[in-house]
Amino acid sequence: MTSSLVRDRARYEAEERERLAAFATKSADSRGRLVPEASHPYRTEFQRDRDRIVHSRAFRRLEYKTQVFVYHEGDHYRTRLTHTLEGAQIARTIARALRLNEELAEAIVLAHDLGHTPFGHAGERALHQLLAAEGGFEHNRQTLRVVDLLEERYPGFRGLNLTEETRAGVLKHGAAWSHPLPLPAAAASPSLEAQVADLADEIAYTNHDLDDGLRSGLLSLGLLAEEPLWHATRASVVARMPGASERVLRAQTIVALINRLVTDLITASAARIDAAGPASAAAARARPEALIASSPEVAGAARALKRFLFEHLYHHPRVLRMNRKAERILGDLYAIYRAEPRQLPRNVVDRFSEEGEARAIADYIAGMTDRFALAEHKKLLDPHEPV
Ligand code: MG
Repeated sequence: MTSSLVRDRARYEAEERERLAAFATKSADSRGRLVPEASHPYRTEFQRDRDRIVHSRAFRRLEYKTQVFVYHEGDHYRTRLTHTLEGAQIARTIARALRLNEELAEAIVLAHDLGHTPFGHAGERALHQLLAAEGGFEHNRQTLRVVDLLEERYPGFRGLNLTEETRAGVLKHGAAWSHPLPLPAAAASPSLEAQVADLADEIAYTNHDLDDGLRSGLLSLGLLAEEPLWHATRASVVARMPGASERVLRAQTIVALINRLVTDLITASAARIDAAGPASAAAARARPEALIASSPEVAGAARALKRFLFEHLYHHPRVLRMNRKAERILGDLYAIYRAEPRQLPRNVVDRFSEEGEARAIADYIAGMTDRFALAEHKKLLDPHEPV
């Protein structure tokens, strides 16, 4: 770059060294991509990862995939796309406060759900059973397949050719699965940015599931009054905002709860990092214990809240009914494609020789949005539906 007005990559990387903590992952120190590429004039490696993820097909499909509520249930519920954006926002806040690499944490969250099947975990469970003989199905592994193999955008490589740091972040716990490309090198712990991404995801879904649960009527304020963390947070909001409408109180309770969880996570993590004193990003990854973690008190309260959601929301009869339907839909699709692969698009059949029939079909089904899977199911099984 010629003009000194432009902040080029070298300058940005120098700023990172000044601005970020010693234990943060610096983009200039990236362990690189599987297929080496020339660096970009003004974007860092992690900015490039983030941009590649946002411009991918799998990212656009997140708009029509759900976690708890199927898309046709209403326009105000979270989708995987809005969940991902909320999670990324929370991750940036935490990373910035701890002087970690915000763009790496952001890239990991933006990618973390790309491997999810239609219909949330019900879809994942169904594919896992159907692929029992072929090593099963797991969404983190599928995310790595999406970014490493399934996106087709570049001439010199399959997938997005992301940095090892972003790939390690989406893979999470490491894996014993077979993967056609080299897996990121194992470390005792994920990078601090990956740890932030993981917990930001959890804070995001716990809060928006509460919000969507109330909006849908599956949860009620009366029921939630028995949940200590919710109850205490709501009581403090009500006391601070006399006369506020119920809609505002509900929104502000969620705001206060996110704030409480994020603030505690930042404070408790800072204390842990301080005590451990990692002198570099590599030293942080060599620690056997997670340095990014809530205080024991808040972690306990958050666990109780998650148990509450399990019992009253994720296992609500209406949610279970939709889950069973989802399992049946994916089971039907899989059985029909296996029995007669000619019903599949050509590009899926073309992948049989390389991936094996079962895995290629699972990749195809996992990539579907909720609405595509529903429509396809109807086309295949409803005699009155045009094919
Ligand atoms: Mg998620």
